[in-house]
Amino acid sequence: MPTSQPFSILVVDDEPSNFEVIETLLSIEETALGETQAYQLHYVANGATAVESLELFQPDVILLDVMMPGMSGLEVCQRIKAMPQWRLLPIIMVTSLTDKADLARCFAAGADDFISKPVTGLELNARVRSMLRIRRQYQALANFNNRLEKTVQERTTQLQTMITQDGLTQLSSRAFLLQQIAEMLRAQCFSFAVVYLDCDQFKLVNSAFGHGVGNQLLLAIAGRLQQLLRPGDTLARVGEDEFCFLLHQIDSERALQPFIDQVLQSFVSSFEVDNCEIFMTACIGIALGNWAYQQAEEPLQDADTAMYKAKQRGKNVCQVFDRQMSVAMLKRLTLETDLQRALNHQEFVAYYQPIVNLHTEALCGFEALVRWQHPSRGLVSPNEFIPCMEETGLIVPLGIVVLHQACGQLLAWHQQGHTDLTMSVNLSVRQFASPTLLADIDQVLAETGLNPAYLKLEITESALLENAETAIGIMAQLRSRQIHISVDDFGTGYSSLSSLHRFPLCDLKIDRSFVSQMHESQRNFKIVSTIISLGDQLGLTVVAEGIETRQQLEHLLHLGCQLGQGYLFNQPLSANIVEIDCLNRRL
Ligand code: C2E
Ligand code: CA
Ligand code: CA
Repeated sequence: MPTSQPFSILVVDDEPSNFEVIETLLSIEETALGETQAYQLHYVANGATAVESLELFQPDVILLDVMMPGMSGLEVCQRIKAMPQWRLLPIIMVTSLTDKADLARCFAAGADDFISKPVTGLELNARVRSMLRIRRQYQALANFNNRLEKTVQERTTQLQTMITQDGLTQLSSRAFLLQQIAEMLRAQCFSFAVVYLDCDQFKLVNSAFGHGVGNQLLLAIAGRLQQLLRPGDTLARVGEDEFCFLLHQIDSERALQPFIDQVLQSFVSSFEVDNCEIFMTACIGIALGNWAYQQAEEPLQDADTAMYKAKQRGKNVCQVFDRQMSVAMLKRLTLETDLQRALNHQEFVAYYQPIVNLHTEALCGFEALVRWQHPSRGLVSPNEFIPCMEETGLIVPLGIVVLHQACGQLLAWHQQGHTDLTMSVNLSVRQFASPTLLADIDQVLAETGLNPAYLKLEITESALLENAETAIGIMAQLRSRQIHISVDDFGTGYSSLSSLHRFPLCDLKIDRSFVSQMHESQRNFKIVSTIISLGDQLGLTVVAEGIETRQQLEHLLHLGCQLGQGYLFNQPLSANIVEIDCLNRRL
């Protein structure tokens, strides 16, 4: 076994003469092979010393006598195997006991192999070599895993920074701000204010002085605003010349006033950029937290609306969002009863969006997307009702309806000869947390008779991270049924991407928002390319969502993305149209 560094072998035996025999037998073999220094032997006379000396000798294999006074060989073996850092160290028991029960005891204690006494050169060498070979393979695997883990960590840290930070100003990003608001809402903490700030006529600066100066001005503004930040509050850049504060412990307009005055004040003196003196003003829109907010986007949207109202009134204006809350609440209530009724009347149908191989543009499968066939309103988009269903728990029965339709439909298509097609079905956070999830899925599979290997469940990053340990357990159960798991909207959650490699995933779906703006923003382009290489490293298939243009397709292909979906290929289609437009052409 030629190697640059000699293998370290630790012999543990209360009888020193046994060590000498082993040493001789191993060295005869070495000389015969013309290899010097292949093994470096160490000797200790009892179990306790053996355990203590592991760090010092760093053995690659242990030859361990079974019968020793004090700690027996079996006990030594058990102890060593219980130490995480030595768990994989091969141990060969050396024993004069040869009946089956004794050997069984050795293996039960964790031994990897045994040699019977008296030891012969042939057997000793063969067993030592085979253990060392295994040891080397383990080590190679461990090194590989370490390297993989390291690159994944690096990539995910890069991604996290890109996603949570604004590239120009290093302030927080919109995604990070939304996450912070979501946390407050989840904690039922409503005494906060969202202060949305948009510079007046910023475009003039860009066209008069160029983008370079424009960017420096943004940096200067960001710097001034940052000085107003109290500990624990957040300042994000949410658009080109738009900034947004999230302030804690503000429960009235009056409490906020001093802060607003400071913000306006910070625009009074001019900004000196590139030897130019530039005066800038800003309009401010404010939304105060209240219990009716359910989604993080809502307060941000309200603050944005207020800011637009302010703009209509002129420059340097501040406007608080005036809530017609009762109207919104009423809408929500009627929607809820409507949805319950719709579920009873089976008004929900699955539409199917083709997923294609980006190289060949051949059809690979579908994503099922639910539509509400409203008796008077026509087809209603899921964005209008999924949040409400999620909140009321109606999403659980709805999810089963969609899963049932999608599995039944795919089976029908398989039976028509399209046996390679897969079906992706969305699973919401609430469904993922439902205690009946696995039983529900089993029932649907049993009722439809679909082969689960063609089913993919799409789970958002946030559902995975909400309770990672439970998620891993459920996913293991799903994988044992051969169901594939995709991470949906990948890149939009941010909290701990770094644990991604712990989940038994199959696909990563790049969120539409990154794909659609790949060309407008260098940052989105980088995010897409980082996600693709991350998927590559983890051995996951990457699926791009929302591909609308040839240009996007070409870039995705260039970056090595395998699968995709989007209006460039097809919108979500009814089952009928799928058969006419997609399947008939295939056979
Ligand atoms: P999603 O899972 O991210 O689904 C992709 C959305 O992008 C779909 O919106 C699809 O119609 C849309 N889309 C696909 N290609 C393009 C494109 O090229 N351009 C643009 N602009 N959009 C594209 P849709 O059908 O409105 O569904 C919205 C969301 O509602 C889905 O987002 C998903 O989160 C949720 N949803 C839909 N059906 C279900 C369901 O059965 N169960 C659950 N839990 N959620 C569902
Ligand atoms: Ca999806
Ligand atoms: Ca998605």
